[in-house]
Amino acid sequence: METFVIIFWLVCAVLSAFIAYRKKRRVETWFFLGLFFGIFALVAVILVRSRPDLTWRCPICGAMNQEMAFFCYSCNTKRTDIPL
Ligand SMILES: [Zn+2]
Repeated sequence: METFVIIFWLVCAVLSAFIAYRKKRRVETWFFLGLFFGIFALVAVILVRSRPDLTWRCPICGAMNQEMAFFCYSCNTKRTDIPL
């Protein structure tokens, strides 16, 4: 019985971490939340929204740039669709 409880808790931790990874959330944080809160963390990570993808693709060379970059790191093209 105790073994089953420990395995169940570990499965909650791993599943929470996996779902967090798919939703671009912090994997380590959700692993430990799953470890400590079990099924509650699992429900929470299922309900939480995915983090929006904030990188941008250069229209000239197609390189993916970081969120805050004003110029393409690859070809130095200035970003035109600067978000607010
Ligand atoms: Zn570029």
